[in-house]
Amino acid sequence: MATKVSQENSDNTSAGNELAAVDLERIAAGVRMILEGLGENPDRPGLLETPRRVAEMYAELTSGMREDPQQHVVPLPGDKHDEMVIVKDISIASMCEHHLAPFVGKCHIAYIPRDGRILGISKLARLAETFSRRLQLQERLTTDIANTLFEGLKPIGVMVVIEAAHTCMTLRGVRKADAKTVTSAVLGGFRTDPRTRAEAMALITGRE
Ligand SMILES: [Zn+2]
Repeated sequence: MATKVSQENSDNTSAGNELAAVDLERIAAGVRMILEGLGENPDRPGLLETPRRVAEMYAELTSGMREDPQQHVVPLPGDKHDEMVIVKDISIASMCEHHLAPFVGKCHIAYIPRDGRILGISKLARLAETFSRRLQLQERLTTDIANTLFEGLKPIGVMVVIEAAHTCMTLRGVRKADAKTVTSAVLGGFRTDPRTRAEAMALITGRE
């Protein structure tokens, strides 16, 4: 699988071009309208800079929309490993596309290498980050990470589990402050072998 973005390009992207694709002015104008809609005075000193700040925050929270996730799925050149790899508790912060409200939680990624091919651990975290910094649904975030890893690294199996609290649920409506949503995506050997799947799940949840 070819990496679609060269190293030089990806460096430029993270340095600032990534934000150029976002129309900050337009977002700021929208935020100003929200303030007016709330009956606020957007020109009072406390709110004067708010539209610009919110626009920059949204640009950052969606920066993964302007990154190629495949760039993180490059096997380590020398090192080989054949046993299951699990990276637990990768912190994620994403944004629910239904409410534009954040959801935060932990992502756990397990895979069984094929022919010893492994990824740097930080690459798994970067993969989770690239997909979470988008307008998302937790279900899609989970399968996006799993599919990209499965297609890019071609391991025997991939399992991704995400546990997250959605502020659109915990702060409003039914106010289930402690409610967590758990989603999983299971591919390849983890899907066909219940024993391996159970082993990975036990390692992820810390339960036997
Ligand atoms: Zn929501």
